[in-house]
Amino acid sequence: MIYPWGDSRRFNSYTTYFQRQFGGRVQKISLDAGFTCPNRDGTKGRGGCTYCINDAFNPSYCQPSKSITQQLEEGKVFHQKRYRRANRYLAYFQAYSNTYADLQSLQEMYAEALSVEGVLGLVIGTRPDVISDEVFEMLAELRKAHYIMLEFGVESVYDQSLKRVNRGHDFATAQQAIARANYYGIPVGAHFIFGLPGETRRMMLDSAAIISDLPLTTVKFHQLQLFKNTALAVEYEQDPTILQLFDLETYTDFIIDFVEIFNPTIIIERFASEVPPPYLLSAPFGSMRYDAVLQNIEKKMAARDTYQGKYFC
Ligand code: SF4
Repeated sequence: MIYPWGDSRRFNSYTTYFQRQFGGRVQKISLDAGFTCPNRDGTKGRGGCTYCINDAFNPSYCQPSKSITQQLEEGKVFHQKRYRRANRYLAYFQAYSNTYADLQSLQEMYAEALSVEGVLGLVIGTRPDVISDEVFEMLAELRKAHYIMLEFGVESVYDQSLKRVNRGHDFATAQQAIARANYYGIPVGAHFIFGLPGETRRMMLDSAAIISDLPLTTVKFHQLQLFKNTALAVEYEQDPTILQLFDLETYTDFIIDFVEIFNPTIIIERFASEVPPPYLLSAPFGSMRYDAVLQNIEKKMAARDTYQGKYFC
């Protein structure tokens, strides 16, 4: 069966989206451009989100001591080992809050990335409370000649959950930032975490309708990961009942229930996260290869004969 997004996969996948956008494979190369986070330095809050350990997400070539150009060149070599024919790239400003600097510095960093051979555009990860109209305007200008995507960490639609993990912004702030990006014609992706303390399965499923209503191009879903040496890990060690960490099968069943009622026009970039084992305090499937997790989800979707948006209304 061919689904409305144009292929036989049971969800609106990022791979198909890239095929539509670029006519073939385009590799994202992660960057650490030396940004910090306003939820750590006191501008928005102190201590950061209780689950955060940013290092866990940086590939080895990604060091802020290296220039953006050097990181991109090393990233190309890294990815060419795995995907020999990769020759088109997106510079992924990933670590910390990548709009957290003055306009001129941002312009220079983005321009440097776009000047590297083979780089077609930028994906910029940031917090929804750290972006101004002048940055939106600058990105709208860049978008006339390049692919530009913003990625906001939204994490939950519930303010009590955001507060519980010291996120430092509420859901309304995320809604406003997404709406502003739309106003300026910039596509937006959003991250969400399932399994935050205090959120029940019912609450997480109910969030499908709320997220479906946002004008998003893509989403990334993650199971909550418990990293060593984080505030959340300390809380958990004192009282393990604060969290119900998903095991693979429980998460697979949950995410399929979620996806069935989720807007089929929003592209799902990820269903889960994968982290090197040394960082994890406890996560029943946190260090499994994402490919294996995805395979399990797609296999179970086939067994249930279901697909993204089957019950979306
Ligand atoms: S998760 Fe993101 S926003 Fe939260 S403290 Fe870490 S870098 Fe900052």
